[in-house]
Amino acid sequence: MSHLVHRSLRQDPPIAVRGEGIWLYDRDGHAVIDGSGGAAVACLGHGNARVIEAIKAQLDQLSYAHTALFSCESAERLADIMVGHAPGGLTHAYFCSSGSEANEAAIKLARQYFLEVEQPQRTRFIARRQSYHGNTLGALSASGNAMRRAPYAPLLSPAFSHVSPCYAYRDRGGDETDAQYVARLMAELEAEFQRLGPDTVIGFIAEPVVGATLGCATALPGYFEGVRAVCDRHGALLILDEVMSGMGRTGTLHAWEQEAVTPDIQIVAKGLGAGYQPIGGILVHGRVIEGLAAGSGAFMHGHTYQAHPVACAAAVAVQQVIAEDRLLDNVRAMGALLEQRLVERFGNHRHVGDIRGRGLFWAIELVTDRATKQVFDPALKLNERVKREAFGRGLACYPMGGTIDGRLGDHAILAPPYIVTAEQVDLIVDRFGAAIDAAL
Ligand code: PLP
Repeated sequence: MSHLVHRSLRQDPPIAVRGEGIWLYDRDGHAVIDGSGGAAVACLGHGNARVIEAIKAQLDQLSYAHTALFSCESAERLADIMVGHAPGGLTHAYFCSSGSEANEAAIKLARQYFLEVEQPQRTRFIARRQSYHGNTLGALSASGNAMRRAPYAPLLSPAFSHVSPCYAYRDRGGDETDAQYVARLMAELEAEFQRLGPDTVIGFIAEPVVGATLGCATALPGYFEGVRAVCDRHGALLILDEVMSGMGRTGTLHAWEQEAVTPDIQIVAKGLGAGYQPIGGILVHGRVIEGLAAGSGAFMHGHTYQAHPVACAAAVAVQQVIAEDRLLDNVRAMGALLEQRLVERFGNHRHVGDIRGRGLFWAIELVTDRATKQVFDPALKLNERVKREAFGRGLACYPMGGTIDGRLGDHAILAPPYIVTAEQVDLIVDRFGAAIDAAL
């Protein structure tokens, strides 16, 4: 047995030894398509020569310099690329090593902002049920994922409360229009502000497209505009967690571009470094930075490895590859094909209740019967079965489910690299379809 603490302590996983394009290979020569190995990270695929070259060049020049003394060229460059043109008014970036760390940074920056602008009474966050913002305690406090919260509930912060997500498949009433459902969600959010005291709320935090917990659940038109209006009415910040759905995954660089709103703080990770280096970050609106600059003039937070030179160099190269190779065009084109193939394969499938997503970020929700939307018994551990059947057929996908609140069905996510071709989309859906059928 391995001495590493793996996700399972009962069974050692296969050892990955090589990656090339959309493929991963293990020590026994088994080849697997990275159709979403874990959660939508490897957006360029594996072995990209330009990114590898950039990492090597950075290492030759500078591996590390502590941010208490220095900035470095790759971090400055990455910030220029991300916010130099002030997308949506976002003017500053802070980089760290993961999505969870980035959420922690967003939470603390938001709190500090209100201290600086002399509203210290703002101490509360509103987040959403069935959400995931990370596994560190602050990020987990924001998360609404019941299963992930449960073991640590006594340690989680009461500063976070949760309202319903926009989950039309299950939560829109049979006789409700989209607009009525969105209005109901806005009334719930407004009521939560009132319950807490509107001037005690720091911000509202949400994933533009819900990733791991709901499986690519997109919001209905008008939802985020409504959220923005409620936040503005009460002077609270809108914090969008694009760790999974951002950096091109949904067909635009930022998922909020498709929602007609701009955040005050945006959280990114995963696709930012595309798996070549661990990196996450927050992008911050100019008015928030002005508040800090006029006050203490510093962000009272930091990590030893923040804005790491090599991680930033990798992320710069990733962004260059995306731009040079016009990969977002491919995300949109292959995303449309993936949707079409999923609808062909599962549109009438008895156990597929919903097919949803955007760009190259798609999921199916599994139910015992599409007419009743009844969830499978969590004891079946359907997600484990889907994962195993897919892996055996040479496909890594991302199944989740069996949450303890008993309301969520199992779902499985596909999030292939942005370089995927039409033939590969067909292969992915073939393998996925066979795996789902075998698992049920
Ligand atoms: N936020 C979202 C939306 C995520 O999907 C995840 C990870 O899946 C995180 C935060 C946490 O990121 P990390 O695992 O890099 O800490």
